[in-house]
Amino acid sequence: MLLGKIAFFVLLVAQIVIRYPYREGMKRTNMDSQEKGLLFVLTVGGLILPLVYIFTPWLAFADYNPPSWLPILGIIIMIVGLYTFWRAHADLGRNWSNSLDIHEAHKLVTGGVYQRVRHPMYSASWLMYLGQALFLSNWIAGLGGVIGFALLYFLRVSKEEDMMLHEFGDQYRQYMTTTGRIIPRRSPTQ
Ligand code: SAH
Repeated sequence: MLLGKIAFFVLLVAQIVIRYPYREGMKRTNMDSQEKGLLFVLTVGGLILPLVYIFTPWLAFADYNPPSWLPILGIIIMIVGLYTFWRAHADLGRNWSNSLDIHEAHKLVTGGVYQRVRHPMYSASWLMYLGQALFLSNWIAGLGGVIGFALLYFLRVSKEEDMMLHEFGDQYRQYMTTTGRIIPRRSPTQ
C-alpha cells in the first residue's frame, strides 16, 4: 500500500533528522557482543525487511488486506512516537548514546519528558515500530521491527537501570519511585 510505504520513508528520514545533532553519542559506546547482535537483529527486522518489502516482490506472499483505518491508526501512533522521540533527544542531549554508556560529564536527567517516565526514547520506539507494523500491511516487514525492538528492549532495560543505579545510587532509586518505566506515571508522589 502506497500510503504505508510513504509513511515508512517519512519515519526513517524524521528519525535521522532528529538524531543527527546527537550523533556523537554513536561513537561513545563500548558494545558487548549481545548489544551488537541485538542492534543487528533490529536493523534487519526494522529496516532491511521493510526495504526489501518496498523495493522487491519477495515478501508479497505475506501481504494482508487491512481495513482502511488500520494504516491511518498506524500513522497516528507513529506521529505520537516521533514527537516523543524528538522530545526525549532534546531532554537527554549529550547523555544519549547508541548503547549503554556512562561518560565523564554524564548527568542524570529527570526533567522534561523524563519527569514521569524513565525511558521515553524506548516508549517512542515501541510506538514507532508498532505504527510501522500497522501501516506496512505485510506480516513479515511489519512485525520485523516490533520483534527486533522487543528483543532489544527486554534484554537491555534492566541492565540499563542497574547501570544507572550503580552510577547514580540513591538519586536514581528516588527517581524510580516517581516515574514509570515506559508508561508515564500519572501523579508523581513527590
Ligand atoms: N533509556 C533511555 C535512554 C536511551 S539512550 C530512554 O529510553 O529514554 C541510552 C543511554 O541513556 C544510556 O547509556 C544511559 O547512560 C543514558 N540514560 C538513560 N536514562 C538516563 C537519564 N535519566 N539521565 C541521563 N542519562 C540516561
